[in-house]
Amino acid sequence: MPRDRDAGVVYLVGAGPGDPGLITVRGRDLLARADVVIADALAAEELLCYAPDDAKIIRFGRLERRSRVHQQRVNRKMIEMARRGLAVVRLKGGDPFIFGRGGEEAEALARAGVRFEVVPGVTAALGAAACAGIPLTDRRHASSVLLATAQVGEGRSGSRDRGGMAGAGTVVVYMGVKRLELTVRDMIAAGRHPDTPSALVRWATRADQQVVEAPLRRIVERARRARIDPPAVLVVGEAVGLRSRLDWFGRRPLAGRTIVVTRAREQSASFSALLREQGARVLEAPAIALATPASWSACDRAVRRLRDYDLVIFTSANGVERFFARLRARRIDLRQLGSSDLVAIGPATAAAIEERGLRVAVMPEEFRAEGIVERLGRRARSGSRILIPRAAVARDLLPRALRAAGARVDVVPVYRTRATRSGVRRLSESLRRGEIDLLTFTSSSTVTQFVGKFRSPTDRRRLRAVPAAVIGPITATTARRHGLRTTIMPRDYTIPALAAAILRRLGRRSSPRPAGLRTT
Ligand code: SAH
Repeated sequence: MPRDRDAGVVYLVGAGPGDPGLITVRGRDLLARADVVIADALAAEELLCYAPDDAKIIRFGRLERRSRVHQQRVNRKMIEMARRGLAVVRLKGGDPFIFGRGGEEAEALARAGVRFEVVPGVTAALGAAACAGIPLTDRRHASSVLLATAQVGEGRSGSRDRGGMAGAGTVVVYMGVKRLELTVRDMIAAGRHPDTPSALVRWATRADQQVVEAPLRRIVERARRARIDPPAVLVVGEAVGLRSRLDWFGRRPLAGRTIVVTRAREQSASFSALLREQGARVLEAPAIALATPASWSACDRAVRRLRDYDLVIFTSANGVERFFARLRARRIDLRQLGSSDLVAIGPATAAAIEERGLRVAVMPEEFRAEGIVERLGRRARSGSRILIPRAAVARDLLPRALRAAGARVDVVPVYRTRATRSGVRRLSESLRRGEIDLLTFTSSSTVTQFVGKFRSPTDRRRLRAVPAAVIGPITATTARRHGLRTTIMPRDYTIPALAAAILRRLGRRSSPRPAGLRTT
């Protein structure tokens, strides 16, 4: 697409410390209209979904492995893209102007005569403060806060700020994991009391945030024992002591739990959100992905004759989504549905219909075909015409039962599912490390597809050792057949009920924990 060259601009956007919810509204708006996104390794991967589908995404930089060559490549790329008239979002971890060379990037843009803007972000120190429970300038303990780096050398002015580090305020040291021992030694040598409370916070604000707390003189050993890798900040000062009362983050009911969600990515958002809200670390490993059907012709034939149907039965929120998207694409007026009653199987399906301003006439709660036919009563009588938009391959029980009752049924595919191996490698690594507390399954087919993703016998053995939560009895049977151990099943077969059951079983009561070593 030809562009106005003068329109080119680079936005240096702070992505926040890790939790994707912590980007600014301005940052998210700019992402949503970016032509190009250049993201650094610390910027949350999840944020990229705010960029338009056709935006070019460039990922640069490995953690803690920045070099001058690397920086020059980033700078060149930003300038090149902006000069083509594109809107470039340079997404940087934390705040663009707190370490991480944002200043140098802005200078390079200024030198090249490229227009730029800077959007602030929540820097790691503030993320760690909030989510580890450390009020950095609590007036009883500190009147200043110093953001320092442990790095010295290439391009850095002077040596570390020894005076500042020794002062009475709170000190937050960035890039300090590799040089932790040296940093601590320097601070003590400069006059910090060896008993000063300190904490090392890794991946602050994310569900897998880790915190190690100890007096300054013991923090190195503690960090080593807990195997803290970058990225982490070291926080030193009396304010760290408040953490024993203020650690709300580590006390959320599912904090420290790792839960695998196997629904298709398109369907998993609300379930994952419910679990994350309670503090769980959610690994999404979709067993299937949704795709457009091999052909739209059956659906298109049906939607041209919508007025002929007495009933339209939706079996999933996805079916609803895709069916109405198709109506839009074919420019079919919703009023064509005026003479049909809409049937939704399950509350989530009903909600998806009602969101569109349409009313659901019948909502059978259960998924058993006979039960549904019974609920439909006279509506499924002989001669009535029924449309079922649904997945390409689905069980035939419902149409069969309806036909047996004398109805004329058109089943049209509006999406299809395909197996995906996405997430397998990461998951088998987590299985190996014994990190996973729970697998979750919301349908029979996801159980089969999910287990099928794992080919190695070792992985399968490890999978079977992890407890599983399932949505209902049919899924439980399939899970058992695959050798999985079901420990959680809700009474209602819905996603919110499943999340609530998980919370009841795995959730811990909030209680103050003893002081000393804490890894949350
Ligand atoms: N501009 C970034 C900092 C970049 S320097 C910001 O404002 O946060 C990289 C260093 O930031 C890492 O070595 C680590 O010390 C720190 N850091 C970044 N994100 C972090 C996080 N989520 N938790 C802990 N430390 C983090």
